[in-house]
Amino acid sequence: MMSKFQYSLIFILSIFIFSACHSLWTTQAQHNIPRQESIITLPTTEVPLPAVDFSFIFPQKPELSNPISPRKNITTNFSAREKNEVAAIDPLLMAEGNTILIDLSQIQKEDYSFPLPGAKLISPYAGRRKHHSGVDLKTHAHDTIVSAFDGIVRLSKPYYAYGNVIVVRHYNGLETVYSHNFKNFVKPGDEVKAGQPIALTGRTGRATTEHLHFEVRVNGQHFNPNIFFNFEERTLNNDCLVFTKSGNKLAVESIKPMPHQLAGEYSPVSTSQNKNNSVEEKKSNG
Ligand SMILES: [Zn+2]
Repeated sequence: MMSKFQYSLIFILSIFIFSACHSLWTTQAQHNIPRQESIITLPTTEVPLPAVDFSFIFPQKPELSNPISPRKNITTNFSAREKNEVAAIDPLLMAEGNTILIDLSQIQKEDYSFPLPGAKLISPYAGRRKHHSGVDLKTHAHDTIVSAFDGIVRLSKPYYAYGNVIVVRHYNGLETVYSHNFKNFVKPGDEVKAGQPIALTGRTGRATTEHLHFEVRVNGQHFNPNIFFNFEERTLNNDCLVFTKSGNKLAVESIKPMPHQLAGEYSPVSTSQNKNNSVEEKKSNG
């Protein structure tokens, strides 16, 4: 026989279990409502694009099958500054707005050449003291330097620590700089092709060994050449790069188009690559 105490204990326990279950059920029910609301009110513009290329599933946009790279206009009527300074603004480049788009994937193989074939990277961009405005590439003394892309020579002369230097303005919106040359073969206004010999490697200016100091500039500002080139493979990257005016400087973002965006519009996705852009400008490059 159960005592009165045992009966009341069972009664209290069952009330306790019932109320616990009830509160659990109501909590879940309450949770369901705001959770649905949060899905509805989620700001869709802040959803990052996945860094996955779906182009293997979806058909390519019509432009990608077009073998012609978009070419920008270049004047041969350079200003005194353009003919005499390594860093010079391109008056036509940003004429139509604050943003320019350079789609490296649209540059055909025959329109690109590694500037010093067979060279090894001996010093990276920025470097230990953050003052290195380009990369140093080395093969041997008096080796042939070639133009990376088609373009027009903007500057060719001795220039401070750069020594004998050449700046080529390209139709794709970039400028490339070739420095410490033993000898320059081209002069301002010359039209050059990708792979065309333009100079021989040397150690003119401030250089301790025969090498090519190579820079990539957009509207006068130098950028990390690793954004554009793979220096181990000596190939061109295939990113689509967006350069946007940010104060007096340009900021760069690499974009990966979503399948539904392949037909036209793009949404920028930030990369960490634009952090190095503020590297100090120095005439005394290494
Ligand atoms: Zn250097």
